[in-house]
Amino acid sequence: MGFTPMIEQYLKIKSKYQDSFLFFRLGDFYEMFFEDAKKAALELEITLTSRDGGSDERIPMCGVPHHSAQGYIKRLIEKGFKVAICEQVEDPKIAKGVVKREVVQHITPGTVMEGSMLDEKENNYLATIHFINEENFGLAYTDLSTGETITAIVEDGWHAVITEIANRPIKEIVLKEDFPDQLRSELKERYQFTISELEEEFEIESQKALLSSLTNDNLKRTCNHLFSYMFYTQKRSIDHLRPAQEIELKEYMALDLYSKRNLEITNSLIRNEKYGSLLWILDKTVTAMGARKLKKWMERPLLSKNQIEKRLTVVEGFQQQFFERQTLREHLTAIYDMERLAGRVSYGNVHAKDLVQLKNSISRIPSLKEILNQFSNKEIMALSEKIDPLPALFEILDKSISDDPSLSIKEGNIIKDGYNEQLDQYRYASRNGKQWIAELEKKEKEKTKIKSLKIGYNRVFGYYIEVTKANLHLLPEGMYERKQTLTNAERYITPELKEKESLILEAEEKSIELEYELFLKIRDQVRGYISQLQELADIISEIDVLQSFATISEENNYVKPNFSTNKVVQIEKCRHPVVEKVMKNGHFVPNDINMDKEKELLLITGPNMSGKSTYMRQFALTVIMAQIGCFVPCEKAVLPLFDQIFTRIGAADDLVAGQSTFMIEMLEANNAIQHATSDSLILFDEIGRGTSTYDGMALAQAIIEHLHHHVQAKTLFSTHYHELTSLEDNLERLKNIHVEAEEIDGKVVFLHQIQDGAADESYGIHVAKLASLPDELIDRASVILKELEGSNKGKIKESEALDQLSFFPADEKKSKQPMPKAANSKTVEAILKLNILEMTPMDALNELYQIQKKL
Ligand code: ADP
Repeated sequence: MGFTPMIEQYLKIKSKYQDSFLFFRLGDFYEMFFEDAKKAALELEITLTSRDGGSDERIPMCGVPHHSAQGYIKRLIEKGFKVAICEQVEDPKIAKGVVKREVVQHITPGTVMEGSMLDEKENNYLATIHFINEENFGLAYTDLSTGETITAIVEDGWHAVITEIANRPIKEIVLKEDFPDQLRSELKERYQFTISELEEEFEIESQKALLSSLTNDNLKRTCNHLFSYMFYTQKRSIDHLRPAQEIELKEYMALDLYSKRNLEITNSLIRNEKYGSLLWILDKTVTAMGARKLKKWMERPLLSKNQIEKRLTVVEGFQQQFFERQTLREHLTAIYDMERLAGRVSYGNVHAKDLVQLKNSISRIPSLKEILNQFSNKEIMALSEKIDPLPALFEILDKSISDDPSLSIKEGNIIKDGYNEQLDQYRYASRNGKQWIAELEKKEKEKTKIKSLKIGYNRVFGYYIEVTKANLHLLPEGMYERKQTLTNAERYITPELKEKESLILEAEEKSIELEYELFLKIRDQVRGYISQLQELADIISEIDVLQSFATISEENNYVKPNFSTNKVVQIEKCRHPVVEKVMKNGHFVPNDINMDKEKELLLITGPNMSGKSTYMRQFALTVIMAQIGCFVPCEKAVLPLFDQIFTRIGAADDLVAGQSTFMIEMLEANNAIQHATSDSLILFDEIGRGTSTYDGMALAQAIIEHLHHHVQAKTLFSTHYHELTSLEDNLERLKNIHVEAEEIDGKVVFLHQIQDGAADESYGIHVAKLASLPDELIDRASVILKELEGSNKGKIKESEALDQLSFFPADEKKSKQPMPKAANSKTVEAILKLNILEMTPMDALNELYQIQKKL
């Protein structure tokens, strides 16, 4: 037996949306069937039922009411699923056979438009990656809610693509069929992106305009694919999409995936939330647009000194005038998310209340300009100049939309009196009618002498006269027609009342219809201002970010950085912007950072917890803050412009990928070694600790040498291999610095003070001593240390034969000194064979005695 025609229709439509939940409209519900139903029941925790579908077995089914569907759709989208909305597209009353149904919208994580599904402080991107060849990729991403599209050619291969997309709020990636499988599954499995495919690509007129600014054919292809998918899913025109904007990645500082994570730029490592990140410190924006722009700026620090200095000048201007800045912040606070609103106007899901907010926002613009003009700073004035207060748009909205309109645009009460003559007439008729009814009530009361008589209204019976049962005897016979009986009262109508009623209802119905029509016309008029609104939103968000920088710079005592052209780093009293804020007790100890052409590599030694990695991180954060145009957490800063930052800090265990910490360490190190230039900044924290001592130390030294000889980037390298400090003798641009623990009142105290030179060789034992471990144990540790050093030297010498580079250049010199005559290879061999770690002092003495006897 086959399925019923409706189920056949369902299956036909579903076959085109295999990867999505199909919300199939049936009366007041969206129903799901078969596997969809089973999955949805689980994901949404709704009841799974079944229905007869014509075949032998019942069909699994579940559904959600259409009026509350948004919440369910949101939950599915947040979990990375897609939802196809299938509506009845003909009136069921006139349909012959099964009602015609079509998918009217395909909601996917990257194409969300509903305000409730979007994070207001974050963009929501749909991306595409176009494979050109192993080295070159076309990349584009667009945010349907704001209409912005960014596109770029990525030239440095796959790793650079990952760098670009990682940590951006990309919710979905649409890929072509010919995209390499291995990379596709990497995106899906390792980076957990929702991946989609477009069945067929097409070219439509509006897309040409969107692609008009692009000169590169590969980018045209990339963006065409992206926009095709957007139109395919949305199935409507989207006027607010702005032409794709091509950017040159080389114009921005590259922050690779690991650095973004390790430096906790927008999210903290441990809980992966904003709290504890640099963004958390820098975000004093007061508009949603500003918050989104700040994040974008943080993801792309600048390389152009000119552009950076422009931003810094504005920050300085804002910072210098506290009171004006406060007023500016108050004005900004009242400005609504015009960027997303412009999107909704074009998309057609804007309400009258939104337009009131738009009007109120625009009403603030003239005084915003005024305040900006009160700053005696040229760049701020230039910003003010760029602002168009859109008076014509303000007038349109001010004249037409009520100040407190109803939520729905289909219930009336959204248009102001006096805006449209016809509407005024309907309203007059309805108000007049209501007035007449109020008077009738008075008259009837007087006539019947029933004080409690009242005229009411309900949807079923319309207007009625209500008389309580106790008073019924007072009602004259014949004039009133009984309509409804309640426990305590009777309800009546009169022909006169019904006549007025139909006049009132007709006027009301017509006025609601007319209000809706007028609203659509006003919306179309606003649509004409979309690009101006987007421009306005852009400047306002920029002002918001810059005032945010000024605000935090003042609150936290940051200073304006200067940029050097001769690769000099000269930072005085630098702090870590986040650590200094979260420290519960004690003060953050500021430290200087000095580097130049002769001092490119700083090797940092010192005990655990002394502040090595904090020192490195605060350097990187200072650099990033400077290059996004913010003041920096120190007393003075001269910096070169860094083109890239590479880090290997902390334990960012890549659990998803299931790789070992050491493997990740090596991957990250390799990324830096392969891609860093002499203008880059590299931060390596304890590279090599993830493997055995010799392995680790060998790798650490080889990496340092390679960086020193071939990369020549500014590098901070922390290590607990004290032996590496002797590299200073051979590598001319490497300098040792250290942090030491001290004893104060018999307690170990980390002063977190960075000093020149290498840390005390036996700082571990020193710390143990401070921690009051037994003297005997400390003495024993010192002996073992010496012995170990001895045995190390023996081993290293073997490796010297294989490798020209030595681990211990300083000791090399010593080893060339003649050996004491008496020493022979047998004695040395005997000493080397001793398992010192297992020996007691008494054993050692005995051995020594034996050796002495042989000499
Ligand atoms: P290491 O890398 O040497 O193991 P960290 O940099 O992780 O040490 O620092 C350990 C702790 O010491 C940090 O969590 C921080 O609270 C504190 N710390 C680090 N640097 C400073 C500083 N300059 N001033 C005050 N406290 C600091």
